[in-house]
Amino acid sequence: MVYDLIIIGGGPSGMSAAIYGLRARLNLILIEKMAVGGQIAVSDNIENYPGFPSLSGAELMQKFDDHAKGLGLQIVYDEIKDVSDNGDYKILHGVEGTYNSKTIIVATGASPKKIGIPGEREFTGKGVSYCATCDGPFFRNEDIALIGGGDTAVKEANYLIKIVKSIVLIHRRKEFRAEKIIQERLNNAKNVMLKLEHTPISINGTKTVESITIENIKTKERNTLPVKGVFIFIGIKPQTSFIHVNKDEYGFIKADPYTLMTSMPGVFCAGDACAKKLLQVATGVGEGALAATSAEEFICNYC
Ligand SMILES: Cc1cc2nc3c(=O)[nH]c(=O)nc-3n(C[C@H](O)[C@H](O)[C@H](O)COP(=O)(O)OP(=O)(O)OC[C@H]3O[C@@H](n4cnc5c(N)ncnc54)[C@H](O)[C@@H]3O)c2cc1C
Repeated sequence: MVYDLIIIGGGPSGMSAAIYGLRARLNLILIEKMAVGGQIAVSDNIENYPGFPSLSGAELMQKFDDHAKGLGLQIVYDEIKDVSDNGDYKILHGVEGTYNSKTIIVATGASPKKIGIPGEREFTGKGVSYCATCDGPFFRNEDIALIGGGDTAVKEANYLIKIVKSIVLIHRRKEFRAEKIIQERLNNAKNVMLKLEHTPISINGTKTVESITIENIKTKERNTLPVKGVFIFIGIKPQTSFIHVNKDEYGFIKADPYTLMTSMPGVFCAGDACAKKLLQVATGVGEGALAATSAEEFICNYC
């Protein structure tokens, strides 16, 4: 069987592509390796998705899921490991099976970047975390460190300050890159100590995290601060290694801005997997819509 469209990834951009594709009456499936929802499903609160002043990531993605399933979306749980081009159609090689499709939308998003310092890997799950909503409650009334200075880091710090005793926020630049509105909220918090122009050197402990060593990037002075947890939000890396199309130096897929078609004809990209300036739900959803519309057009031209 050859589908019209296979969407890889069930985050916001994949679900948006599914809604547009199903309304265009394409014969499609969505393949997801874990659970529908993507990265945003672990966020406690979203305040910048138009029409919803405040709701959790899980609530938002439930609405996407209900909408797509209401249109008849069929989800296949599998992880795609490779894609080959047969000329007439593409073959997707999964762990569980192979799938044929005239077009593909790569909506596989991204996963958290690691710092690569001593202690990070050893203490992951034992004090080191990349998810505030998942692990924040384990650090109730404890001192923690948070590393990063972008939107996600500052937003997650705002969530954690309601739970923990104190946060030392470590950022290598002189100022944050996060939205001003969430920075202001953080500035008003009493239990946050800013360590700007500092970089983490090691995460220390025996069985679990006991401290973090940081260095002033100008003076090179080092300090070891006692903390029970270290939350890391230093950016993301795209999950695109399975597809052989043109990418930027970090692995984000390069696509034509007008159609979102990649260097492999019939393969489109949407969301955090694509190279662009702003990686958010709103941008991913827009790209999902555009990619599905372009896929429909590609099929019509090709028929
Ligand atoms: C903690 C946190 C807070 C955030 N807060 C906000 C916010 O407030 N507002 C906002 O707009 N954005 C926020 N973001 C960013 C937002 O989550 C992302 O921009 C958005 O989720 C990107 O959607 P996506 O569909 O492109 O990718 P993802 O959400 O990454 O979804 C990709 C999906 O593809 C699946 N997948 C990956 N590889 C494969 C494969 N090979 N085979 C099958 N399936 C695969 C994954 O399991 C995943 O479900 C936040 C992110 C984080 C981590």
